[in-house]
Amino acid sequence: MPKRKAEIDNYGGTGIEVRFYPNWFQHAPQCPHGPMLLFEKFVKGKQVSKRFYACSANRDRKDCQAFIWENDHLADDKVANQHLKKSQTDEIRLTFEEIEAAAPENRHYCYECQKFFITKSGMKSHIKHRTMKNITTNDLLQPSRYFLSAKQNDKVHAQYFLSQRSTSFLQQQLEKLGTMHVLCIGMPRLHEMIQVANLKNGPMKSLLMDIDDRYISFWPSDKFARFNMFNHYFFTQSGEKIFNKFVSDASQNQNQLAVVLDPPFGGLVDCIAESLKWIKEQHSSNSKHQTSKLLILWLFPYFMEPRIVDSLPDLHMLDYCVDYDNHKKFKNATSGRKMSPVRIFTNVQNSLVELPQDEGYRFCKECQRYVAQQNKHCSKCNTCPSKDGRTYFHCNECQKCVKPGRQHCSRCKRCELPDHKCATSHKTIGCHICGQVTHKRRDCPLQKKTNTDSAANETKSSLYINDAKKFQKFKL
Ligand code: SAH
Ligand code: ZN
Ligand code: ZN
Ligand code: ZN
Ligand code: ZN
Repeated sequence: MPKRKAEIDNYGGTGIEVRFYPNWFQHAPQCPHGPMLLFEKFVKGKQVSKRFYACSANRDRKDCQAFIWENDHLADDKVANQHLKKSQTDEIRLTFEEIEAAAPENRHYCYECQKFFITKSGMKSHIKHRTMKNITTNDLLQPSRYFLSAKQNDKVHAQYFLSQRSTSFLQQQLEKLGTMHVLCIGMPRLHEMIQVANLKNGPMKSLLMDIDDRYISFWPSDKFARFNMFNHYFFTQSGEKIFNKFVSDASQNQNQLAVVLDPPFGGLVDCIAESLKWIKEQHSSNSKHQTSKLLILWLFPYFMEPRIVDSLPDLHMLDYCVDYDNHKKFKNATSGRKMSPVRIFTNVQNSLVELPQDEGYRFCKECQRYVAQQNKHCSKCNTCPSKDGRTYFHCNECQKCVKPGRQHCSRCKRCELPDHKCATSHKTIGCHICGQVTHKRRDCPLQKKTNTDSAANETKSSLYINDAKKFQKFKL
């Protein structure tokens, strides 16, 4: 097996793009997390790129070893698949149905092992662990609050639980829009809130779609489907059936369907966008009589706006600041420098989204949308320009509004921090292969593809170099 670590560990260190080609989902080799993604790696100064398949879900290679050179896969895909299936390491877990069938006094949960056990004689092997017994079915309703510890490894699950404030905000927006069916992708907290409301006759229905298999112990099989949002792969056939039924129920009842997703921030924008397009297709193929459009609410950092809008042009960013319970840095601060960088990208019309005035958001008449308190309208740009929530100021030389603290630098011909080193801060803009600033890598005349046949059909690619830098800055 080739040494894969050096190849892909550092998305930011070298240039890596993801390639999608028609029907890639059927042709790519499989790892335990579904079809693998085709990556292309560029090395500075070298004209030939290297192409390989790797796991879509785990950027930490300890968690999934799946790796294969594209050429090896093309030569013999059966061998590749056999080899990869071996790395399956899923734990055995009790399902919600199995737990429900047991008497509450026999239900035990071990916080250390993050697992349920059904036993009449206690939990001898967990004697030193923190455990819980006598668990009622109602106790199971809010797993992210009472049972699960967040898996915070940023390269895999990157679990941060949404604050009560932001969860209620999302639920209220959906309610106002008359949404009855909500797909919660990587959104356990919202799913829980909808399910709790459901018990009290709330009309909304939701389906949790998440890669975390711990949820099979908490949700009946029609409320949770184990799913990988980077390649729209269902881990079980029953999960896929539930999803199809959920989507078709929404169309049959002419109900509004929404998808709300909160991907790991290190996630690949284009992969997520591909999955959203796929869901859109499922939705529209289902609705014979043209029902309402699929609503999208995608939580992601504001500095990814250009990338997101590039992938899905009908999305726009709201000023609403999304915050989390267990994020060391962004907890509770909804204004100022320490505020969370997470925003909502949506295709819901601006005029239909009212941001909470008691938190300082105000309506800008000129822009016809709600904006953050410090986001001041600029008459020259004719917009409320702030992205990060702070007050931007207009620079006449740049002819646009810039972040506070910047000064116009005549050598760089743009606004920069006062202590910047001239002309170094944006040299990465140039081509990654030849270093010229006149074009980007994908247009480099020196670029030779290792596999020209398939390259001709490829539709979309991702650039990670600049993204990775931004994430580093925010230590997300
Ligand atoms: N804000 C959310 C949590 C966001 S954290 C909340 O309110 O709880 C990211 C979530 O995405 C986690 O639940 C994590 O398990 C899930 N996740 C991570 N990688 C995933 C993948 N490839 N496919 C689907 N879900 C994933
Ligand atoms: Zn404005
Ligand atoms: Zn301006
Ligand atoms: Zn300037
Ligand atoms: Zn300068």
